Order: sequence, then C-alpha cells, then structure tokens
Amino acid sequence: MNTIAEQPVSSAKAADKARREAIKLEKRLCREVGRAILDFNMIEEGDKVMVCMSGGKDSYTLLDILRRLQKRAPVRFSLVAVNLDQKQPGFPDHVLPEYLRAQGVDFHIETQDTYSVVKRVIPEGKTTCGLCSRLRRAILYSVAERLGCTKIALGHHRDDILQTLMLNMFFGGRMKGMPPKLVSDDGKHVVIRPLAYIPEKDTRQWAEYQQFPIIPCNLCGSQDNLQRQIVGDMLRDWDRQYPGRLESMFRAMQHVVTTHMMDPKLHDFRHARATGVASPEGDIAFDPDTFTESFAPAAAGDTLGIRVSVAPAAPAAPHAEAWTACSS
Ligand code: SF4
Repeated sequence: MNTIAEQPVSSAKAADKARREAIKLEKRLCREVGRAILDFNMIEEGDKVMVCMSGGKDSYTLLDILRRLQKRAPVRFSLVAVNLDQKQPGFPDHVLPEYLRAQGVDFHIETQDTYSVVKRVIPEGKTTCGLCSRLRRAILYSVAERLGCTKIALGHHRDDILQTLMLNMFFGGRMKGMPPKLVSDDGKHVVIRPLAYIPEKDTRQWAEYQQFPIIPCNLCGSQDNLQRQIVGDMLRDWDRQYPGRLESMFRAMQHVVTTHMMDPKLHDFRHARATGVASPEGDIAFDPDTFTESFAPAAAGDTLGIRVSVAPAAPAAPHAEAWTACSS
C-alpha cells in the first residue's frame, strides 16, 4: 500500500498518463477518419453531412471527430445530427437533445413509431431486424432529402465491416463486406462511413474519455443480432490471441486479387489462353514470392510466423495533412 505522502504523486502520474493516452487516441482517430475521408472522397466542398445518431458510442464518436476535423478541413462542410426515435419502450428521448444542445450542434429528432409497426406486422418469434432496418433506412433517406443533406454519415467502424464480411461468408455464401461509401438503392443519396478504419476498441475508449451519455442498444429486445455478437466475440478473441490478424484481414479487403478467387463474373476464366507474351502483370502459378515471405522466420513481435508485406505508401494526397490532423 502506498504511504499517504506517495498517494498524490501516484494519482497525479496516473492522471497524466491517462491525459497523454487520450491525446494520442484523439490524434489517431482524427488521422484515421481523415485518411478514410480522403481515400474514398467522402466529403467535398459545400457538403451538408447528416450524421445519424443512435446514441451509441460509435455515433457519438463519429459526430465528435467530424466536428474536430471540420475546424481545419481543406473543404467547408456543415453537419446536422439526426436521431430517429423509433418509440422503443424505455427510449430516453431527452438524452440526445440535451447533449446536442449543450454541444451547440445543429440537430433534428425524427419521431416515427416503427416499433409498433414491426410488432404488428411481424409474427411473434420471427425476425424483426429486416423490416425494422428497411423502415429506418427509408425514413432517414426522406429526412436527408427534407433537410437538404448531400451525404449521410453512419457510425460503422472497422470491426462492423469485418463482422459483416464474416456473416456474409458464413450465412450468405458471398464475399461481401460493407462499403465505406455507396450510392443508395434509390440513387438519390450518398452514404459514407468515415469510421471505416477505426477499430471498435478505439470508439469504446473515446466514449469513456468523453463520457458520452450512451443510450443502451437493446431496447427493442431483439435477439436477431445474436449471430453478429458471436462473430464479434470470435474476432475479438482472435485479436487477443493473434495481434495483427484483424488488421491483416482488413488490409485483405482492400487488396482483392480477383484472378485468384472463383467468381466468373469478375474474371473470364473460360477464355483464359496462353498469349506467348510475357507480362509483368501476369500470374505466377505457384506464387513463390508470397509463400517465401509468408513463411519466413517470424520477426520480433510477429505471431504465427506470418509476415505480411505492406505495399509502399502512396504519395500523400493534396491537403492530406489538413484532413488528418486535429484542431486541438
Ligand atoms: S436490433 Fe431492434 S432496433 Fe435494431 S434493427 Fe433489429 S429490430 Fe430494429
């Protein structure tokens, strides 16, 4: 046990360490969100970005980091936070307005009782998430139109993207993740995911530092997300046991070699013929470069003896620094 004289020193040290950790995390969040915005051209001059707020840690983090980036971004854009109150029993509808008002954020609360609709239409014990998310999506699109928003920002992060990829592989028989930017099915909206590069542990940590007033996400009482939770636990377990595996999987999603998959819609296998002409882009049948490298002796800190080659960094885009730094 510390002596009384030692206690203030150690608690001051701990506070100092926590402050330094928070500053590091803030810089990382800003850098990675800015990088995703740049890489996928998510936000452009004059955009009005609708930030969808559920009241969970990810949507608070998204709004918070976008507000920090807004102060020094190379383009001017505005933000409006939007929450859809679906009238789930026990939803604390005062929490978000109080927070947003206190922060001075422009916001809109859309109240529509989709909860009753879903309960009425879907028989007891059947899956509710499909209808619920279709209704929510349609409402959010109509709100975006009404508010004149040019982009709709969602708080999905890297781990959501990896979970979606796994779920689609396990249950949907498809290699399909979650795009960082997409045009909505009605062709009218551009949806962006600025947290695409952010691991969930960082949004959790940031929410703790910032003490966001989190609204629990289990109000609808649905069990439909059970498989997502199981896959999430599996990925977290991998991350603990084999550090770097999730990063490697995520990089893989950005480097798809379509000729080495088996989708004839992506590659014309039927008409593949020898050309007799060497090509630097051509395939190496047994991939000696990749295999040699993959099974090279482990570098210090590597796990499983697997080394992943990283492509040389691309030249920085114009204004990259302004996008990837924080205002504070
Ligand atoms: S978990 Fe609940 S709120 Fe979320 S999509 Fe499913 S039914 Fe809707």
